[in-house]
Amino acid sequence: MQHKRGIPVSPGVAISPAFVLDADQQRIARRTITRPAVTGEIERLNQAVATSITEIEELRDQTASSFGVAISKIFDAHISLLTDPHVIDPIHEAIRGQCVTAEYAVYSRMQQLHETFRRGQNPLARKHASDVLDLEQRILKHLIGTDFSDLGTLDHQAVVVAHDLTPSQTAALDRTKIRGLATDAGGQTSHTAILAHALGIPAIVGLEDITARVRTGDSLIVDGHRGLVVINPDAAKLMEYRQVEQRMAAFTDTLGEIKSLPAVTKDGTKITLLANIEFPSEIPEAIANGAEGIGLYRTEFLYLASEVEPSEQEQYETYLQAIQSLKGRPMTIRTLDLGADKISESLRPFGPEHEERNPFLGCRSIRLCLQNLPLFKTQLRAILRASEAGPVRIMFPLISNIMELRQARMILSDVKEDLEEQAVPYRSDIPTGMMIEVPSVAIQSRTFAREVDFFSIGTNDLIQYTVAVDRSNELIANLYSAAHPALMTLLKEILRAAQGAKLDVSLCGEMGGEPEFTMLLLGLGLRTLSISPPAIPEIKQIVRSVSIDQCRRVVRKVRALDSEREVLNCLKDEVGKIMPEVFDGRSVGY
Ligand code: PEP
Ligand code: MG
Repeated sequence: MQHKRGIPVSPGVAISPAFVLDADQQRIARRTITRPAVTGEIERLNQAVATSITEIEELRDQTASSFGVAISKIFDAHISLLTDPHVIDPIHEAIRGQCVTAEYAVYSRMQQLHETFRRGQNPLARKHASDVLDLEQRILKHLIGTDFSDLGTLDHQAVVVAHDLTPSQTAALDRTKIRGLATDAGGQTSHTAILAHALGIPAIVGLEDITARVRTGDSLIVDGHRGLVVINPDAAKLMEYRQVEQRMAAFTDTLGEIKSLPAVTKDGTKITLLANIEFPSEIPEAIANGAEGIGLYRTEFLYLASEVEPSEQEQYETYLQAIQSLKGRPMTIRTLDLGADKISESLRPFGPEHEERNPFLGCRSIRLCLQNLPLFKTQLRAILRASEAGPVRIMFPLISNIMELRQARMILSDVKEDLEEQAVPYRSDIPTGMMIEVPSVAIQSRTFAREVDFFSIGTNDLIQYTVAVDRSNELIANLYSAAHPALMTLLKEILRAAQGAKLDVSLCGEMGGEPEFTMLLLGLGLRTLSISPPAIPEIKQIVRSVSIDQCRRVVRKVRALDSEREVLNCLKDEVGKIMPEVFDGRSVGY
Protein backbone atom coordinates (compact mmCIF):
# COMPACT_ATOMS: atom_id res chain seq x y z
CA MET A 1 0.00 0.00 0.00
CA GLN A 2 1.29 3.46 -0.93
CA HIS A 3 -0.04 6.98 -0.36
CA LYS A 4 0.45 9.91 -2.68
CA ARG A 5 -0.76 13.43 -2.08
CA GLY A 6 -1.76 15.95 -4.73
CA ILE A 7 -4.06 18.91 -5.21
CA PRO A 8 -7.73 18.05 -4.65
CA VAL A 9 -9.78 19.70 -7.39
CA SER A 10 -13.07 17.83 -7.23
CA PRO A 11 -14.43 16.29 -4.02
CA GLY A 12 -15.75 12.79 -3.33
CA VAL A 13 -14.30 9.34 -2.83
CA ALA A 14 -13.72 6.82 -5.63
CA ILE A 15 -12.64 3.21 -5.13
CA SER A 16 -11.92 1.41 -8.39
CA PRO A 17 -9.28 -0.32 -10.46
CA ALA A 18 -6.88 2.01 -12.23
CA PHE A 19 -6.86 2.60 -15.97
CA VAL A 20 -3.52 4.15 -16.85
CA LEU A 21 -3.45 6.09 -20.05
CA ASP A 22 -0.19 5.63 -21.89
CA ALA A 23 1.97 8.37 -20.49
CA ASP A 24 4.62 7.99 -23.15
CA GLN A 25 3.63 8.56 -26.69
CA GLN A 26 3.84 5.36 -28.61
CA ARG A 27 6.95 5.10 -30.72
CA ILE A 28 6.43 4.37 -34.37
CA ALA A 29 9.23 2.49 -36.08
CA ARG A 30 10.57 3.89 -39.35
CA ARG A 31 9.35 1.53 -42.08
CA THR A 32 9.56 2.04 -45.81
CA ILE A 33 7.17 1.13 -48.60
CA THR A 34 7.76 0.46 -52.29
CA ARG A 35 7.47 3.36 -54.72
CA PRO A 36 4.31 2.02 -56.42
CA ALA A 37 2.66 1.85 -52.96
CA VAL A 38 3.11 5.61 -52.37
CA THR A 39 -0.18 6.73 -53.95
CA GLY A 40 -2.15 4.23 -51.87
CA GLU A 41 -0.31 5.32 -48.73
CA ILE A 42 -1.16 8.97 -49.34
CA GLU A 43 -4.78 7.96 -49.90
CA ARG A 44 -4.71 6.09 -46.56
CA LEU A 45 -3.30 9.19 -44.85
CA ASN A 46 -5.91 11.50 -46.40
CA GLN A 47 -8.63 9.14 -45.28
CA ALA A 48 -7.31 9.07 -41.69
CA VAL A 49 -7.05 12.87 -41.60
CA ALA A 50 -10.56 13.30 -43.00
CA THR A 51 -12.01 10.86 -40.44
CA SER A 52 -10.13 12.67 -37.68
CA ILE A 53 -11.61 16.00 -38.77
CA THR A 54 -15.14 14.56 -38.78
CA GLU A 55 -14.56 13.15 -35.31
CA ILE A 56 -13.24 16.47 -34.01
CA GLU A 57 -16.21 18.32 -35.48
CA GLU A 58 -18.56 15.97 -33.63
CA LEU A 59 -16.61 16.47 -30.42
CA ARG A 60 -16.75 20.24 -30.94
CA ASP A 61 -20.52 20.18 -31.34
CA GLN A 62 -21.01 17.96 -28.28
CA THR A 63 -18.74 20.23 -26.23
CA ALA A 64 -20.55 23.34 -27.45
CA SER A 65 -23.88 21.99 -26.25
CA SER A 66 -22.53 20.73 -22.92
CA PHE A 67 -20.08 23.49 -22.00
CA GLY A 68 -20.73 26.38 -24.39
CA VAL A 69 -19.34 27.63 -27.68
CA ALA A 70 -16.31 29.34 -26.14
CA ILE A 71 -14.91 26.07 -24.77
CA SER A 72 -15.65 24.17 -27.95
CA LYS A 73 -13.22 26.44 -29.79
CA ILE A 74 -10.38 24.25 -28.56
CA PHE A 75 -11.48 21.91 -31.31
CA ASP A 76 -11.59 24.59 -33.98
CA ALA A 77 -7.90 25.06 -33.30
CA HIS A 78 -7.39 21.31 -33.81
CA ILE A 79 -9.19 21.44 -37.14
CA SER A 80 -7.11 24.44 -38.23
CA LEU A 81 -3.94 22.52 -37.46
CA LEU A 82 -5.10 19.51 -39.45
CA THR A 83 -5.98 21.62 -42.47
CA ASP A 84 -2.83 23.74 -42.31
CA PRO A 85 -0.53 22.96 -45.29
CA HIS A 86 2.43 23.77 -43.06
CA VAL A 87 1.44 20.79 -40.90
CA ILE A 88 0.17 18.38 -43.55
CA ASP A 89 2.40 18.99 -46.61
CA PRO A 90 5.63 17.74 -44.96
CA ILE A 91 3.82 14.48 -44.14
CA HIS A 92 2.91 14.01 -47.79
CA GLU A 93 6.47 14.93 -48.81
CA ALA A 94 7.95 12.36 -46.43
CA ILE A 95 5.75 9.60 -47.85
CA ARG A 96 6.57 10.62 -51.42
CA GLY A 97 10.23 11.51 -51.01
CA GLN A 98 11.41 8.98 -48.45
CA CYS A 99 8.85 6.21 -49.13
CA VAL A 100 8.03 5.90 -45.42
CA THR A 101 4.73 4.64 -44.05
CA ALA A 102 1.96 7.13 -43.35
CA GLU A 103 2.18 6.23 -39.62
CA TYR A 104 5.85 7.10 -39.48
CA ALA A 105 5.43 10.28 -41.53
CA VAL A 106 2.65 11.47 -39.17
CA TYR A 107 4.59 10.47 -36.08
CA SER A 108 7.84 12.18 -37.09
CA ARG A 109 6.12 15.39 -38.29
CA MET A 110 4.00 15.68 -35.14
CA GLN A 111 6.97 15.01 -32.85
CA GLN A 112 8.93 17.68 -34.71
CA LEU A 113 6.06 20.17 -34.42
CA HIS A 114 5.63 19.30 -30.77
CA GLU A 115 9.27 20.18 -30.09
CA THR A 116 9.03 23.42 -32.08
CA PHE A 117 5.89 24.53 -30.24
CA ARG A 118 7.24 23.44 -26.87
CA ARG A 119 10.39 25.51 -27.25
CA GLY A 120 8.59 28.49 -28.82
CA GLN A 121 8.73 31.98 -27.37
CA ASN A 122 5.10 32.70 -28.13
CA PRO A 123 2.92 31.42 -25.29
CA LEU A 124 -0.04 30.86 -27.62
CA ALA A 125 2.13 28.68 -29.83
CA ARG A 126 3.44 26.76 -26.79
CA LYS A 127 -0.12 25.83 -26.01
CA HIS A 128 -0.29 23.95 -29.32
CA ALA A 129 2.43 21.53 -28.15
CA SER A 130 -0.10 19.31 -26.41
CA ASP A 131 -2.64 19.82 -29.20
CA VAL A 132 -0.33 18.30 -31.80
CA LEU A 133 0.21 15.21 -29.64
CA ASP A 134 -3.53 14.90 -29.29
CA LEU A 135 -3.86 15.08 -33.08
CA GLU A 136 -1.00 12.63 -33.60
CA GLN A 137 -2.81 10.05 -31.43
CA ARG A 138 -6.06 10.64 -33.25
CA ILE A 139 -4.63 10.13 -36.76
CA LEU A 140 -2.57 7.14 -35.66
CA LYS A 141 -5.68 5.58 -34.21
CA HIS A 142 -7.23 5.65 -37.69
CA LEU A 143 -4.09 4.46 -39.42
CA ILE A 144 -3.20 1.65 -37.04
CA GLY A 145 -6.59 0.82 -35.61
CA THR A 146 -5.36 0.77 -32.00
CA ASP A 147 -5.97 3.54 -29.59
CA PHE A 148 -3.62 4.01 -26.72
CA SER A 149 -5.31 7.08 -25.42
CA ASP A 150 -9.01 6.67 -26.06
CA LEU A 151 -11.06 6.50 -22.92
CA GLY A 152 -13.84 5.20 -25.15
CA THR A 153 -12.13 1.78 -25.10
CA LEU A 154 -12.82 1.62 -21.37
CA ASP A 155 -15.57 -0.91 -20.83
CA HIS A 156 -15.65 -0.97 -17.03
CA GLN A 157 -15.67 1.51 -14.16
CA ALA A 158 -12.21 2.84 -13.38
CA VAL A 159 -10.12 5.59 -11.93
CA VAL A 160 -8.27 7.17 -14.83
CA VAL A 161 -4.59 7.81 -14.19
CA ALA A 162 -2.81 10.00 -16.70
CA HIS A 163 0.06 12.41 -17.03
CA ASP A 164 -2.50 15.01 -18.02
CA LEU A 165 -5.64 14.69 -20.06
CA THR A 166 -5.79 16.26 -23.48
CA PRO A 167 -8.77 18.50 -24.22
CA SER A 168 -10.40 15.77 -26.32
CA GLN A 169 -10.00 13.18 -23.60
CA THR A 170 -11.39 15.46 -20.93
CA ALA A 171 -14.38 16.55 -22.96
CA ALA A 172 -15.20 12.92 -23.76
CA LEU A 173 -15.16 11.73 -20.12
CA ASP A 174 -18.03 9.36 -19.49
CA ARG A 175 -19.36 9.92 -15.99
CA THR A 176 -20.85 6.41 -15.85
CA LYS A 177 -17.43 4.75 -16.26
CA ILE A 178 -14.91 7.21 -14.90
CA ARG A 179 -15.14 7.03 -11.10
CA GLY A 180 -12.17 9.27 -10.43
CA LEU A 181 -9.18 11.01 -11.94
CA ALA A 182 -5.57 11.24 -10.85
CA THR A 183 -2.99 13.11 -12.90
CA ASP A 184 0.73 13.87 -12.66
CA ALA A 185 0.34 17.40 -13.94
CA GLY A 186 -2.18 20.18 -13.67
CA GLY A 187 -3.18 22.80 -11.22
CA GLN A 188 -6.40 24.00 -9.72
CA THR A 189 -7.50 25.49 -13.01
CA SER A 190 -6.23 23.03 -15.60
CA HIS A 191 -8.75 21.75 -18.12
CA THR A 192 -8.86 18.50 -16.22
CA ALA A 193 -9.67 20.22 -12.96
CA ILE A 194 -12.30 22.52 -14.41
CA LEU A 195 -14.19 19.82 -16.24
CA ALA A 196 -13.85 17.10 -13.59
CA HIS A 197 -15.40 19.50 -11.12
CA ALA A 198 -18.18 20.44 -13.48
CA LEU A 199 -18.88 16.72 -14.07
CA GLY A 200 -18.75 15.86 -10.37
CA ILE A 201 -15.93 13.31 -10.76
CA PRO A 202 -13.59 13.10 -7.73
CA ALA A 203 -10.21 14.32 -8.99
CA ILE A 204 -6.69 14.97 -7.80
CA VAL A 205 -4.09 16.70 -9.96
CA GLY A 206 -0.44 17.66 -9.45
CA LEU A 207 0.47 14.16 -8.22
CA GLU A 208 3.85 14.45 -10.02
CA ASP A 209 4.62 10.77 -10.69
CA ILE A 210 1.35 8.91 -10.24
CA THR A 211 1.61 7.38 -13.74
CA ALA A 212 4.96 5.85 -12.77
CA ARG A 213 3.62 4.40 -9.52
CA VAL A 214 0.37 2.91 -10.76
CA ARG A 215 -0.31 0.16 -13.29
CA THR A 216 -3.60 -0.56 -15.03
CA GLY A 217 -5.60 -2.89 -12.82
CA ASP A 218 -4.06 -1.69 -9.54
CA SER A 219 -6.64 -1.02 -6.90
CA LEU A 220 -6.97 2.72 -6.15
CA ILE A 221 -8.71 4.99 -3.70
CA VAL A 222 -9.07 8.61 -4.77
CA ASP A 223 -9.97 10.79 -1.82
CA GLY A 224 -10.99 14.01 -3.51
CA HIS A 225 -11.62 15.73 -0.17
CA ARG A 226 -8.06 15.39 1.02
CA GLY A 227 -6.15 15.15 -2.24
CA LEU A 228 -4.97 11.66 -1.35
CA VAL A 229 -4.49 8.63 -3.60
CA VAL A 230 -4.07 5.24 -1.90
CA ILE A 231 -2.44 2.69 -4.22
CA ASN A 232 -3.27 -0.97 -3.63
CA PRO A 233 -4.86 -0.33 -0.24
CA ASP A 234 -4.70 -3.13 2.31
CA ALA A 235 -7.91 -4.80 3.45
CA ALA A 236 -8.25 -2.56 6.49
CA LYS A 237 -7.89 0.67 4.50
CA LEU A 238 -10.25 -0.58 1.84
CA MET A 239 -12.82 -1.50 4.44
CA GLU A 240 -12.40 1.89 6.10
CA TYR A 241 -13.03 3.75 2.82
CA ARG A 242 -15.86 1.44 1.76
CA GLN A 243 -17.58 2.33 5.01
CA VAL A 244 -16.93 6.00 4.30
CA GLU A 245 -18.42 5.54 0.85
CA GLN A 246 -21.51 3.88 2.30
CA ARG A 247 -21.93 6.48 5.01
CA MET A 248 -21.49 9.24 2.48
CA ALA A 249 -24.10 7.66 0.22
CA ALA A 250 -26.51 7.27 3.16
CA PHE A 251 -25.80 10.82 4.30
CA THR A 252 -26.29 12.10 0.76
CA ASP A 253 -29.66 10.35 0.66
CA THR A 254 -30.78 12.06 3.85
CA LEU A 255 -29.51 15.38 2.52
CA GLY A 256 -31.58 14.84 -0.59
CA GLU A 257 -34.67 15.15 1.56
CA ILE A 258 -33.76 18.59 2.84
CA LYS A 259 -32.94 20.11 -0.55
CA SER A 260 -36.39 21.64 -0.88
CA LEU A 261 -36.67 22.76 2.77
CA PRO A 262 -35.84 26.36 3.73
CA ALA A 263 -32.45 27.26 5.18
CA VAL A 264 -33.74 28.56 8.51
CA THR A 265 -32.09 28.19 11.90
CA LYS A 266 -33.98 26.67 14.84
CA ASP A 267 -34.86 30.16 16.07
CA GLY A 268 -36.29 31.16 12.69
CA THR A 269 -33.39 33.17 11.21
CA LYS A 270 -33.33 32.94 7.43
CA ILE A 271 -29.96 32.08 5.89
CA THR A 272 -29.53 32.55 2.16
CA LEU A 273 -27.55 29.81 0.47
CA LEU A 274 -26.28 30.68 -2.98
CA ALA A 275 -23.99 28.77 -5.33
CA ASN A 276 -20.55 29.49 -6.78
CA ILE A 277 -20.28 28.46 -10.41
CA GLU A 278 -17.68 28.45 -13.14
CA PHE A 279 -20.01 27.56 -16.02
CA PRO A 280 -23.71 28.29 -16.64
CA SER A 281 -24.12 24.54 -17.25
CA GLU A 282 -23.75 24.07 -13.48
CA ILE A 283 -26.89 26.11 -12.73
CA PRO A 284 -29.54 23.35 -13.00
CA GLU A 285 -27.62 21.16 -10.55
CA ALA A 286 -27.05 24.10 -8.21
CA ILE A 287 -30.79 24.78 -8.16
CA ALA A 288 -31.56 21.10 -7.70
CA ASN A 289 -29.25 21.16 -4.67
CA GLY A 290 -31.25 24.01 -3.19
CA ALA A 291 -29.32 27.13 -4.27
CA GLU A 292 -31.48 30.26 -4.17
CA GLY A 293 -29.34 31.94 -6.78
CA ILE A 294 -25.74 32.39 -7.85
CA GLY A 295 -23.58 34.38 -5.45
CA LEU A 296 -20.40 34.09 -7.48
CA TYR A 297 -20.11 33.45 -11.18
CA ARG A 298 -16.39 33.13 -11.93
CA THR A 299 -16.48 34.44 -15.48
CA GLU A 300 -12.77 33.96 -16.07
CA PHE A 301 -13.43 30.29 -16.77
CA LEU A 302 -15.07 31.37 -20.00
CA TYR A 303 -11.70 32.82 -20.98
CA LEU A 304 -9.62 30.04 -19.43
CA ALA A 305 -11.32 27.35 -21.43
CA SER A 306 -11.20 29.26 -24.66
CA GLU A 307 -8.49 29.54 -27.31
CA VAL A 308 -9.03 33.26 -27.87
CA GLU A 309 -10.71 36.11 -26.01
CA PRO A 310 -14.47 35.50 -26.17
CA SER A 311 -16.23 38.25 -28.12
CA GLU A 312 -18.77 40.61 -26.53
CA GLN A 313 -21.59 38.74 -28.28
CA GLU A 314 -20.33 35.32 -27.08
CA GLN A 315 -20.10 36.63 -23.53
CA TYR A 316 -23.51 38.26 -23.76
CA GLU A 317 -25.05 35.00 -24.94
CA THR A 318 -23.35 33.01 -22.19
CA TYR A 319 -24.50 35.44 -19.46
CA LEU A 320 -27.99 35.54 -20.96
CA GLN A 321 -28.19 31.76 -20.95
CA ALA A 322 -27.17 31.76 -17.28
CA ILE A 323 -29.75 34.42 -16.36
CA GLN A 324 -32.49 32.64 -18.25
CA SER A 325 -31.76 29.28 -16.65
CA LEU A 326 -32.05 30.97 -13.23
CA LYS A 327 -35.68 31.91 -13.96
CA GLY A 328 -35.74 35.07 -11.88
CA ARG A 329 -33.27 33.98 -9.20
CA PRO A 330 -30.45 36.46 -8.55
CA MET A 331 -26.92 36.19 -9.92
CA THR A 332 -23.72 38.03 -9.05
CA ILE A 333 -21.36 38.16 -12.00
CA ARG A 334 -17.76 38.72 -11.06
CA THR A 335 -15.64 40.52 -13.61
CA LEU A 336 -12.49 38.80 -14.82
CA ASP A 337 -10.33 37.47 -12.03
CA LEU A 338 -7.29 36.25 -13.88
CA GLY A 339 -4.00 35.84 -12.19
CA ALA A 340 -1.19 33.58 -11.21
CA ASP A 341 -3.56 30.91 -9.98
CA LYS A 342 -5.73 31.09 -13.04
CA ILE A 343 -3.81 31.86 -16.16
CA SER A 344 -3.82 29.64 -19.17
CA GLU A 345 -1.51 29.93 -22.11
CA SER A 346 -4.29 31.49 -24.16
CA LEU A 347 -4.64 34.27 -21.60
CA ARG A 348 -1.00 35.15 -21.32
CA PRO A 349 -1.30 37.83 -23.98
CA PHE A 350 -3.42 39.79 -21.49
CA GLY A 351 -1.09 39.22 -18.60
CA PRO A 352 2.16 40.91 -17.73
CA GLU A 353 4.73 40.88 -20.53
CA HIS A 354 7.44 39.42 -18.33
CA GLU A 355 7.14 36.68 -15.77
CA GLU A 356 6.47 38.17 -12.39
CA ARG A 357 8.55 37.28 -9.37
CA ASN A 358 5.54 37.29 -7.09
CA PRO A 359 2.56 36.67 -9.33
CA PHE A 360 0.10 36.50 -6.44
CA LEU A 361 1.14 40.02 -5.56
CA GLY A 362 1.29 41.02 -9.17
CA CYS A 363 -0.80 42.09 -12.09
CA ARG A 364 -3.86 39.96 -11.50
CA SER A 365 -7.59 40.37 -11.37
CA ILE A 366 -8.94 43.96 -11.33
CA ARG A 367 -5.36 45.22 -11.78
CA LEU A 368 -5.06 43.29 -15.02
CA CYS A 369 -8.46 44.59 -16.18
CA LEU A 370 -7.55 48.17 -15.40
CA GLN A 371 -4.43 47.75 -17.54
CA ASN A 372 -6.40 46.14 -20.40
CA LEU A 373 -9.33 48.48 -20.79
CA PRO A 374 -10.69 47.07 -24.08
CA LEU A 375 -10.79 43.62 -22.45
CA PHE A 376 -12.51 45.01 -19.35
CA LYS A 377 -14.99 47.19 -21.25
CA THR A 378 -15.98 44.34 -23.55
CA GLN A 379 -16.92 42.25 -20.56
CA LEU A 380 -18.77 45.10 -18.83
CA ARG A 381 -20.78 45.76 -22.00
CA ALA A 382 -21.74 42.10 -22.24
CA ILE A 383 -22.82 41.96 -18.58
CA LEU A 384 -24.79 45.21 -18.81
CA ARG A 385 -26.59 44.11 -21.96
CA ALA A 386 -27.51 40.78 -20.33
CA SER A 387 -28.65 42.55 -17.14
CA GLU A 388 -31.88 43.45 -18.93
CA ALA A 389 -32.94 39.82 -18.65
CA GLY A 390 -32.90 39.33 -14.88
CA PRO A 391 -31.66 40.31 -11.41
CA VAL A 392 -27.92 40.60 -11.99
CA ARG A 393 -25.22 42.29 -9.93
CA ILE A 394 -21.68 43.22 -10.98
CA MET A 395 -18.80 42.46 -8.65
CA PHE A 396 -15.17 43.59 -8.87
CA PRO A 397 -12.55 41.17 -7.54
CA LEU A 398 -9.34 41.80 -5.60
CA ILE A 399 -9.86 45.50 -4.95
CA SER A 400 -6.93 46.58 -2.80
CA ASN A 401 -7.36 50.34 -2.54
CA ILE A 402 -10.12 52.87 -2.91
CA MET A 403 -8.74 54.47 -6.08
CA GLU A 404 -8.92 51.14 -7.84
CA LEU A 405 -12.58 50.82 -6.92
CA ARG A 406 -13.29 54.35 -8.08
CA GLN A 407 -11.49 53.74 -11.35
CA ALA A 408 -13.41 50.52 -11.97
CA ARG A 409 -16.70 52.29 -11.24
CA MET A 410 -15.74 55.14 -13.56
CA ILE A 411 -15.09 52.70 -16.40
CA LEU A 412 -18.42 51.06 -15.70
CA SER A 413 -20.06 54.51 -15.99
CA ASP A 414 -18.27 55.13 -19.29
CA VAL A 415 -19.56 51.84 -20.65
CA LYS A 416 -23.08 52.68 -19.46
CA GLU A 417 -22.86 56.04 -21.26
CA ASP A 418 -21.71 54.35 -24.46
CA LEU A 419 -24.66 51.97 -24.29
CA GLU A 420 -27.03 54.87 -23.73
CA GLU A 421 -25.63 56.75 -26.70
CA GLN A 422 -26.08 53.68 -28.83
CA ALA A 423 -29.59 53.14 -27.45
CA VAL A 424 -28.63 49.64 -26.28
CA PRO A 425 -30.89 48.60 -23.40
CA TYR A 426 -29.36 47.65 -20.02
CA ARG A 427 -30.30 47.88 -16.37
CA SER A 428 -29.00 51.28 -15.29
CA ASP A 429 -29.46 50.61 -11.56
CA ILE A 430 -27.51 47.35 -11.64
CA PRO A 431 -26.09 46.85 -8.11
CA THR A 432 -22.31 47.14 -8.08
CA GLY A 433 -20.22 45.53 -5.40
CA MET A 434 -16.77 44.29 -4.60
CA MET A 435 -15.02 41.32 -3.15
CA ILE A 436 -13.07 41.71 0.04
CA GLU A 437 -10.00 39.56 -0.44
CA VAL A 438 -7.17 41.78 0.74
CA PRO A 439 -6.44 42.60 4.41
CA SER A 440 -5.94 46.32 3.65
CA VAL A 441 -9.52 46.51 2.42
CA ALA A 442 -10.89 44.44 5.31
CA ILE A 443 -9.26 46.86 7.73
CA GLN A 444 -10.56 49.87 5.80
CA SER A 445 -13.94 48.31 5.03
CA ARG A 446 -15.94 51.24 6.46
CA THR A 447 -14.54 53.50 3.74
CA PHE A 448 -15.40 51.00 1.02
CA ALA A 449 -18.88 50.43 2.43
CA ARG A 450 -19.78 54.00 1.48
CA GLU A 451 -19.00 53.42 -2.19
CA VAL A 452 -20.54 50.07 -3.11
CA ASP A 453 -23.89 48.31 -2.99
CA PHE A 454 -22.58 45.08 -1.52
CA PHE A 455 -19.57 43.18 -0.22
CA SER A 456 -18.69 39.58 -0.87
CA ILE A 457 -15.91 38.19 1.30
CA GLY A 458 -13.46 36.05 -0.68
CA THR A 459 -11.76 34.14 2.07
CA ASN A 460 -9.69 31.99 -0.31
CA ASP A 461 -7.54 34.98 -1.10
CA LEU A 462 -8.13 36.86 2.13
CA ILE A 463 -6.54 33.96 4.03
CA GLN A 464 -3.52 33.71 1.76
CA TYR A 465 -2.82 37.44 1.99
CA THR A 466 -3.40 37.51 5.74
CA VAL A 467 -1.14 34.60 6.64
CA ALA A 468 1.34 35.04 3.75
CA VAL A 469 0.77 31.54 2.39
CA ASP A 470 0.38 30.87 -1.33
CA ARG A 471 -2.97 29.10 -1.51
CA SER A 472 -1.79 26.71 -4.22
CA ASN A 473 1.55 25.67 -2.73
CA GLU A 474 1.16 22.19 -1.34
CA LEU A 475 4.51 22.43 0.52
CA ILE A 476 3.07 24.94 2.97
CA ALA A 477 -0.55 23.91 2.80
CA ASN A 478 -0.53 23.20 6.56
CA LEU A 479 -0.04 26.93 7.20
CA TYR A 480 -3.07 27.94 5.17
CA SER A 481 -6.02 27.87 7.54
CA ALA A 482 -9.44 29.45 7.69
CA ALA A 483 -9.32 28.87 11.45
CA HIS A 484 -6.54 31.45 11.94
CA PRO A 485 -7.66 33.82 14.70
CA ALA A 486 -6.49 36.82 12.61
CA LEU A 487 -9.06 35.95 9.94
CA MET A 488 -11.78 36.10 12.55
CA THR A 489 -10.70 39.61 13.52
CA LEU A 490 -10.89 40.72 9.88
CA LEU A 491 -14.29 39.10 9.36
CA LYS A 492 -15.63 40.89 12.42
CA GLU A 493 -14.34 44.20 11.11
CA ILE A 494 -15.94 43.69 7.69
CA LEU A 495 -19.28 42.64 9.17
CA ARG A 496 -19.30 45.60 11.53
CA ALA A 497 -18.66 47.97 8.62
CA ALA A 498 -21.37 46.33 6.51
CA GLN A 499 -23.91 46.39 9.33
CA GLY A 500 -23.08 50.05 10.08
CA ALA A 501 -23.72 50.98 6.44
CA LYS A 502 -26.69 48.59 6.15
CA LEU A 503 -24.84 46.95 3.31
CA ASP A 504 -25.60 43.54 1.91
CA VAL A 505 -22.71 41.23 2.75
CA SER A 506 -22.03 37.61 1.86
CA LEU A 507 -19.11 35.20 1.96
CA CYS A 508 -18.08 33.24 -1.13
CA GLY A 509 -14.77 31.61 -0.15
CA GLU A 510 -14.46 27.84 0.21
CA MET A 511 -14.78 28.03 4.00
CA GLY A 512 -18.48 28.85 3.53
CA GLY A 513 -19.00 25.31 2.25
CA GLU A 514 -16.96 23.64 4.98
CA PRO A 515 -19.26 22.42 7.75
CA GLU A 516 -16.82 23.13 10.58
CA PHE A 517 -17.11 26.87 9.92
CA THR A 518 -20.88 27.24 9.57
CA MET A 519 -21.58 27.97 13.24
CA LEU A 520 -18.68 30.41 13.42
CA LEU A 521 -19.88 32.33 10.37
CA LEU A 522 -23.48 32.51 11.55
CA GLY A 523 -22.32 33.51 15.01
CA LEU A 524 -20.22 36.32 13.54
CA GLY A 525 -23.33 37.66 11.77
CA LEU A 526 -23.20 36.31 8.23
CA ARG A 527 -26.62 35.54 6.78
CA THR A 528 -25.68 34.80 3.16
CA LEU A 529 -23.18 32.17 2.03
CA SER A 530 -22.26 31.41 -1.55
CA ILE A 531 -20.76 27.95 -1.84
CA SER A 532 -19.94 25.15 -4.23
CA PRO A 533 -23.24 23.48 -5.29
CA PRO A 534 -22.56 19.99 -3.90
CA ALA A 535 -21.96 21.49 -0.42
CA ILE A 536 -25.36 23.21 -0.17
CA PRO A 537 -27.48 20.38 1.35
CA GLU A 538 -24.92 19.65 4.06
CA ILE A 539 -24.58 23.30 5.07
CA LYS A 540 -28.35 23.68 5.04
CA GLN A 541 -28.63 20.69 7.36
CA ILE A 542 -26.32 22.42 9.84
CA VAL A 543 -28.20 25.72 9.51
CA ARG A 544 -31.44 23.93 10.30
CA SER A 545 -29.91 22.21 13.34
CA VAL A 546 -28.57 25.27 15.18
CA SER A 547 -29.80 28.47 16.78
CA ILE A 548 -28.07 31.84 16.38
CA ASP A 549 -27.51 31.98 20.15
CA GLN A 550 -25.73 28.66 20.01
CA CYS A 551 -23.55 30.01 17.16
CA ARG A 552 -22.73 33.19 19.09
CA ARG A 553 -21.63 31.03 22.03
CA VAL A 554 -19.27 29.20 19.68
CA VAL A 555 -17.78 32.53 18.57
CA ARG A 556 -17.19 33.52 22.22
CA LYS A 557 -15.54 30.18 22.84
CA VAL A 558 -13.10 30.36 19.94
CA ARG A 559 -12.28 34.01 20.63
CA ALA A 560 -10.43 32.86 23.72
CA LEU A 561 -8.17 30.57 21.67
CA ASP A 562 -4.78 31.53 20.27
CA SER A 563 -3.97 29.02 17.57
CA GLU A 564 -5.73 27.78 14.46
CA ARG A 565 -5.36 24.18 15.63
CA GLU A 566 -7.27 24.90 18.84
CA VAL A 567 -9.88 26.90 16.94
CA LEU A 568 -10.38 24.14 14.39
CA ASN A 569 -10.67 21.42 17.02
CA CYS A 570 -13.17 23.47 18.96
CA LEU A 571 -15.27 24.17 15.84
CA LYS A 572 -15.23 20.51 14.83
CA ASP A 573 -16.27 19.51 18.33
CA GLU A 574 -19.20 21.90 18.27
CA VAL A 575 -20.58 20.83 14.91
CA GLY A 576 -19.81 17.19 15.76
CA LYS A 577 -22.09 17.50 18.79
CA ILE A 578 -24.93 18.61 16.55
CA MET A 579 -24.33 16.41 13.52
CA PRO A 580 -21.74 13.70 14.16
CA GLU A 581 -22.27 12.23 10.69
CA VAL A 582 -20.91 15.39 9.03
CA PHE A 583 -17.30 14.40 9.46
CA ASP A 584 -17.67 10.75 8.59
CA GLY A 585 -16.59 11.29 5.01
CA ARG A 586 -13.53 13.23 6.02
CA SER A 587 -12.43 11.51 9.19
CA VAL A 588 -10.41 8.66 7.74
CA GLY A 589 -7.05 8.25 9.39
CA TYR A 590 -4.03 7.38 7.26
C1 PEP B 1 -11.87 33.92 -2.94
O1 PEP B 1 -10.75 34.39 -3.12
O2 PEP B 1 -12.31 33.58 -1.83
C2 PEP B 1 -12.78 33.69 -4.07
C3 PEP B 1 -14.02 33.26 -3.89
O3 PEP B 1 -12.29 33.87 -5.31
P1 PEP B 1 -11.36 32.81 -6.08
O4 PEP B 1 -11.35 31.54 -5.31
O5 PEP B 1 -11.98 32.67 -7.43
O6 PEP B 1 -10.05 33.51 -6.09
MG1 MG C 1 -10.23 35.32 -5.00
